[in-house]
Amino acid sequence: MSIPRGAADLHAHSRISDGTQSPAELVDAAKEAGLGTLALTDHDATAGWSEAVRRAEEVGLGLIPGMELSTRLGHQSVHVLGYLFDPEDPTLVAETERIRLSRLTRAEGIVDRIGADYPLTWESVLEIAGAGATVGRPHIADALVAGGIVSDRAEAFGGILHPSRGYVFPHYAPDPLTGVQAIRAAGGVPVVAHPVTHGRDNVLTDAYLSDLVDAGLGGVEIEHRENTEEGKARLRALAARHDLIVTGSSDYHGTGKPNRLGENTTDPSMLERIVESGTGSAPTLPD
Ligand code: AMP
Ligand code: FE
Ligand code: FE
Ligand code: ZN
Repeated sequence: MSIPRGAADLHAHSRISDGTQSPAELVDAAKEAGLGTLALTDHDATAGWSEAVRRAEEVGLGLIPGMELSTRLGHQSVHVLGYLFDPEDPTLVAETERIRLSRLTRAEGIVDRIGADYPLTWESVLEIAGAGATVGRPHIADALVAGGIVSDRAEAFGGILHPSRGYVFPHYAPDPLTGVQAIRAAGGVPVVAHPVTHGRDNVLTDAYLSDLVDAGLGGVEIEHRENTEEGKARLRALAARHDLIVTGSSDYHGTGKPNRLGENTTDPSMLERIVESGTGSAPTLPD
C-alpha cells in the first residue's frame, strides 16, 4: 500500500491513552510513513498536545490537535472526535476529567472481577498504563499479556474482556448530543468516529445523526476499517444531504492494533474545512 505523499491521517492514539508510542514517537512515525498531516486524538485527553506540537514543528509535519471523546447512547458507546477546540474550555475539561476518573474506578472494578479468576493485579495495570494516561480495556489487555494469560490484545478482547464474559462494565460518559455541543462550544469541530461498525451500524440512525448535525456536528469519519460498506454508503448520502465534512483515518494505536498509519486518509479540501472552522486552538501547519 502506498500513502499519497503529504496525506492527512486524522485519528491516532499515543500512550496518553491506549496507543503504544509517546506523542513525539507517534509524530516521528507519521513523518516516516510519508504523511503530511496527523491529528493526535487520544481518548478523553489533551495531555499529549504540547509534546506532539513541539515534535511536529521540529520534523515539519502538520499537526491537528484533537481528542476522541467517549459518549454513550443507551448502552452503546459512541466516539466523537473533536479537532481544534480550546483545551482549557471549562465544560470540556470538567467532562473529560469526570470520564477519566470514572474510567479509572471502572478499570479497577473490572480488574477486581478478573482477579477473582485469573492472576491479574491492579498494580500491573497501573504500571502499564503509566501515570495520568486515560485508562481503558487495552491496558488491562496488556497486563493480561504481560502475565502470560493471553497472547495479545485481540485475544483479550475476544475473550476475557468481551462483554459476554461478564467482567466488563461501562464507565460514565455523556450522551453524544452533549458531547457534540461541548466540542463545538469550545470552538472545536466535532466528527463522529467510526459511526457504522460491524454489528452496530444501525445504532446511529439517520434521524439521530440529523439531531447531532443540529447540535453542531461538523462531519463523519467514513473511511475507517471498522465501518461497514453499507454503513459507509448511508453516511455518504447523509453527508451530501447536510453538507458535512467527511474524513478517512487509520485509528492507529501503535502495536496495540493492526491499523497502520495512512491506511485511510482525508481529502485536502476536507482538512481545509476543518482548519477553517476550528477556532479554539491553532493547527501546526508547515510551510
Ligand atoms: P474501553 O474504552 O476501555 O471500553 O476500551 C475500548 C478501546 O479498546 C477502544 O478505544 C479500542 O481502541 C480498543 N479495542 C477494542 N477492540 C480491540 C481489539 N480487538 N484489539 C485491540 N484494541 C481494541
Ligand atoms: Fe482506543
Ligand atoms: Fe474509537
Ligand atoms: Zn480511536
